[in-house]
Amino acid sequence: MSPAPPDDAVRVGVLAIQGDVAEHLRSIAAAGGRPSRIRRPADLNDIDGLILPGGESTTIGMLGGEAGLLSAIRLRVAEGLPVWGTCAGLILLAQDVGQAQPLIGGLDVTVARNAFGRQVDSFEVDLDVAGLTDGPFRAVFIRAPVVCRAGPAVEVLARLNDGTIVAVRQGLMLGTSFHPELTGDHRLHTLFLRMVAAQRSASRQSRA
Ligand code: GLN
Repeated sequence: MSPAPPDDAVRVGVLAIQGDVAEHLRSIAAAGGRPSRIRRPADLNDIDGLILPGGESTTIGMLGGEAGLLSAIRLRVAEGLPVWGTCAGLILLAQDVGQAQPLIGGLDVTVARNAFGRQVDSFEVDLDVAGLTDGPFRAVFIRAPVVCRAGPAVEVLARLNDGTIVAVRQGLMLGTSFHPELTGDHRLHTLFLRMVAAQRSASRQSRA
């Protein structure tokens, strides 16, 4: 059990339609944030940041579209809500996935789904991630997408040894091909929580 978060902890929602929601909720709490499940558009009013989990992007996109969540998220992100897509979540954030499926979009990348083929459906690798200190991050890839084009505003945070892009940032949007919620290493959640906290204080100041 994680200790109760401090009163000023950032509130981070996890899109809770399908996929590894519980693991992200746990990691947010472990990194010192206040987690919540996002099931309907109104839930987006009570958060400072949002995580789109891994799972099956077509299923999440279709059900999320029916619930009005994709358009509501698109709007909140355009207004400055920090968002992090992991695996299927990265697919949902991508501007282009090379096929027709419901997306949120906004992140100027083209993503290839299931990019590692059948033989290597899942694998783990030690990855150097820009912005993370204290050594490489053990990255778990499960039927993972990769970024095959990154626009000029996109910062590449991590590549595999062969140069394949697997982590990116564009302003307040973060995308990772792998699953940081499946390891005990919470450094990427901490990094995202820091982005969320910085954006919260910036928007409080602009309102003051
Ligand atoms: N293969 C899934 C998809 O294309 C993503 C896999 C995952 O999120 N672990 O939606």
